[in-house]
Amino acid sequence: MHADTWSKADLHIHSNHSDGLARIPEIMDWVEKRTDLSVIAITDHNTIEGALFAKSLEDLYGFEVIVGEEVSTRSGHIIGLWLNETIPAGMSVVETLAAIHEQGGVAIVPHPFSPRGIFGPLGRTEFLNTVNDLAFHALEVYNSIPYLVWANSVAAKMFTGGQGIAATGGSDAHVLQGIGTGCTLFRGSNAEDLRRSIENLETRASATRGGLNVALRYTFSIPRIRRQRSLNWERCKAR
Ligand SMILES: [Zn+2]
Ligand SMILES: [Zn+2]
Repeated sequence: MHADTWSKADLHIHSNHSDGLARIPEIMDWVEKRTDLSVIAITDHNTIEGALFAKSLEDLYGFEVIVGEEVSTRSGHIIGLWLNETIPAGMSVVETLAAIHEQGGVAIVPHPFSPRGIFGPLGRTEFLNTVNDLAFHALEVYNSIPYLVWANSVAAKMFTGGQGIAATGGSDAHVLQGIGTGCTLFRGSNAEDLRRSIENLETRASATRGGLNVALRYTFSIPRIRRQRSLNWERCKAR
């Protein structure tokens, strides 16, 4: 075991299989050459197609890939990691969490207090009550999308620990330059270590410097992201 090694994972990345602008081979090359990530999860909207493609290329690179999906439930987004099959959009949060567990996956609530987050409209008390009824593993307390700055600070404050929920960070990257700008610190160095670290509630969310630059790039990319979304509309539309 690598008891004192800590590594970085970006657990929230979109490719052109949903509304991201980069193709999977471009993402793989970028991660290898331009980041210090040890693990990435490809989490396209409502498909694991791109994630499976990335997984098939894993041997060519020095980091590991987790097959993930950002599922559109009837009340917001849920990320499933370590999936084998695509989980259909349009189910309730509880049904979606059950489907993730059935596959032996890990469920993460991304951007929990954003408009597309499942806790979007809830106050603090309701949040704490709801948390007890839902069987998810981790809350994404840091998401790099610029307009979520406020929601991130709410998420970080709401996350008080002691609820058996791990804290993760992800970039929600839709462009290459965004990858790794939000990340999860975990003990160990590979995907298996990451999973153990999530189960042991020792993961931490982190953000890299250069955030403003990335924010500007993201803003300039929005029209292209919207065009890409329209190309994959059935996958990406809000539910
Ligand atoms: Zn989302
Ligand atoms: Zn996303």
